Amino acid sequence: METVQNYIAGEIVSSHSERFAPVYNPATGEQIKQVVLSSEQEANEAIEVAKQAFSSWSKTSPLKRARVMFKFKSLLEANTDKLARLISTEHGKIYSDAVGEVTRGLEVVEFACGIPHLQKGEHSANVGTGVDSHSLMQPVGVCVGITPFNFPAMVPMWMFPIALATGNTFILKPSEKDPSTALLLAELLKEAGLPDGVFNVINGDKTVVDTLLTSPNVDAVSFVGSTPIAEYIYTTASAHGKRCQALGGAKNHCILMPDTDLDMAVNAIVGAAFGAAGERCMALSVAVAVGDEIADQLIEQLKTKVAAMRVGPGLVDGQENDMGPVISAEHRQKICDYISTGESQGAKIVIDGRDFSVAGNETGFFVGPTLIDNVTPTMTIYQEEIFGPVLAVVRVSDYDTALKLINQHEFGNGTAIFTRDGETARQFGEDVQAGMVGINVPIPVPMAFHSFGGWKRSVFGPLNVHGNDGVRFYTKMKTVTSRWPTSVRLEQHSSAFTMPTME
Ligand code: NAD
Repeated sequence: METVQNYIAGEIVSSHSERFAPVYNPATGEQIKQVVLSSEQEANEAIEVAKQAFSSWSKTSPLKRARVMFKFKSLLEANTDKLARLISTEHGKIYSDAVGEVTRGLEVVEFACGIPHLQKGEHSANVGTGVDSHSLMQPVGVCVGITPFNFPAMVPMWMFPIALATGNTFILKPSEKDPSTALLLAELLKEAGLPDGVFNVINGDKTVVDTLLTSPNVDAVSFVGSTPIAEYIYTTASAHGKRCQALGGAKNHCILMPDTDLDMAVNAIVGAAFGAAGERCMALSVAVAVGDEIADQLIEQLKTKVAAMRVGPGLVDGQENDMGPVISAEHRQKICDYISTGESQGAKIVIDGRDFSVAGNETGFFVGPTLIDNVTPTMTIYQEEIFGPVLAVVRVSDYDTALKLINQHEFGNGTAIFTRDGETARQFGEDVQAGMVGINVPIPVPMAFHSFGGWKRSVFGPLNVHGNDGVRFYTKMKTVTSRWPTSVRLEQHSSAFTMPTME
């Protein structure tokens, strides 16, 4: 069986570890590979390689670094099909969705191509008489990315294109559930001309992560994953003196106002709730209907839409499915247990995705699209992130109650409102406690030149990923104030014992 190894110093390196994790094809339920769970020593070797590579890469001109990104972008385009097939095979999402994921990652590479401009710093002449000031945005050092299973290409590309373009070296620790994409990205970076050692991939679990978090030779940590792990990563990395951005889980609500264009909203909600089998941090998992009339119409239209959905393998010949399997048998069980808990706590299961099987793929990890009505804020299925194809409908009587629900929830990643009323929409944008807001847009994922990140317990750390925040995260600001000896005014060069002011 193929073993997914590490990528250190520009080549695939076989690990000495005797610990492995299985990699499945979720559409069939078969184990197709195993991935090495590296040792502490191997993680330290990767750190050492990245540290060595930093001294020359950080001094490479921004233009040269940008040219590597330009080539990498072309290679991503040429290899999109290969990447998407790999993602679909190990993750389970449908092929076109995997292509979309690669595209969203590629857009960050396009943003990183502009690094000579983005990393320019500032200059002020004559901040005092004969005194100038300029700022340098210098790379931080060895940066680490620890990423989740649900976007094996896009989430790493939220991080490393900007980290590399700004002059850092990088160690990626991908999810052990779908690790192969990271190695293909590493090979494409090498083909693009990235020097050996600048980008490394180390596979593993907590042992590797803890080594990366505590090593004195790691300078910055980017994390995306579930909230308990994000909090652990943030507190541990911070306690060890590293800058850290850690993005966590979500429970994304949308509000349906009584004046909603329901056809538009229902089409949007079906895709946002059940696309990628709900395994997106921006998936819509709660629809808050304002008034029973819109709630009843929503449920009726959703029933029709869901009945028409094609659920099956992500990679098929001929007509593509709409939704694939979830990542693992354990996760399928967890999702089904949540549905059962919702039922026992009094919610109404309108469409039940438990005991769902796909003809010809009976052993695949499939959960059917599930619609649950009459969900209330005290229920477990409302409070916790399910991360599966489960949409909860909560009925409220007015907008203020709907807004309060969102603002009181533990998570604050994305949210949306469906309405025709500009005043309500504008007020919602102002008042809602979430990091990414859609107005009649169900998955408001910011473009690469804006920054992505939630609020509340969906994020730990002040800086979001990509966009200007990404550049700030991967650079240290230094401000240089300079005065040069001049042939005139030499008499002013006397000692001063007061706080310097520039007047
Ligand atoms: P996860 O937290 O289980 O794993 C994420 C990473 O952390 C993996 O690389 C994993 O190996 C590592 N990890 C897991 N347990 C660890 C531990 N105890 N110590 C150290 N490292 C550990 O997340 P997942 O299941 O892979 O991904 C799904 C989660 O990611 C969901 O909660 C989803 O909302 C979240 N997510 C959030 C965003 C966002 O932008 N906020 C984006 C994508 C996914």
